[in-house]
Amino acid sequence: MSEIKKYLAYEGRINIICAETTDLVEEARKLHDLSPVATAAFGRVLTMASIMSTRIKGDESITIQIKGNGPIGNITCVYNGLNEVKGFVGNPTVDLPLKENGKIDVGGAVGKDGFLYVIRDMKLKEQYVGVTPLLSGEIAEDFTKYFAESEQTPCVVALGVLVDKNGVKKAGGYFITLMPDAKEEDIEKLEKNLKVIPSVTEMLDSNKTLQEMAETITGDDNLMVMLGDIIPKYKCDCSKERFIKNVEKLSKDDIDKLYENGDTEIETVCQFCNKKYHIKRDEIKK
Ligand SMILES: [Zn+2]
Repeated sequence: MSEIKKYLAYEGRINIICAETTDLVEEARKLHDLSPVATAAFGRVLTMASIMSTRIKGDESITIQIKGNGPIGNITCVYNGLNEVKGFVGNPTVDLPLKENGKIDVGGAVGKDGFLYVIRDMKLKEQYVGVTPLLSGEIAEDFTKYFAESEQTPCVVALGVLVDKNGVKKAGGYFITLMPDAKEEDIEKLEKNLKVIPSVTEMLDSNKTLQEMAETITGDDNLMVMLGDIIPKYKCDCSKERFIKNVEKLSKDDIDKLYENGDTEIETVCQFCNKKYHIKRDEIKK
């Protein structure tokens, strides 16, 4: 299942967005043939992109890039403004031993030296680009730091991907922000609760609904439902026409190089979904 819901807790003084992205992350795992650690790292970023998409206006798009110094290479994720995300990782087959606590070593795969970029295209002339140094490469902490430093938004971010031998068992996350009238006691209550609640994947794996999850996280069973029925998807919008357009932008020399050795067609692969397209020389000439 994949679904996002938004609630207000503590009589409207705290905002919480809860997401389940199991199907979405499984689709990404299959398309990119991701290793378990690549599934966990990429899945966390895809989940965050889906959550962030509910905080922006209509057709705005977001690109997230995580450039760490770990063996997974760069992680790129794009939200297209239509509840659809897509992306790719540098090294989809990266394999690392589990950490001492038995958890997948996402921080080790991403690396803690590097940067997190968020590029927001509001369809105006200028794009908004936010950047912060990574904290741990574990993704959720890096986004918490990003929001605090780059968007002046103190928040709580939790992201989790549970992988078993069949693929993605559960994936999801939550994002909490304070409304301007939040009280000191609200923050204390929330912090106290966050220390004792299960992880995102534990909650999803025990079949909690998103509302039950939000109730557990906040300790408030009088939530106000703000937004429902958002179904985020992993979807690529590539087409042969788009690839032909890209080849057309190259110089004549470069196009000739593509077709050297007398080949009459070239093969292109979409990096977002691994779909292959064969482009004939005639199609470019046209
Ligand atoms: Zn594609």
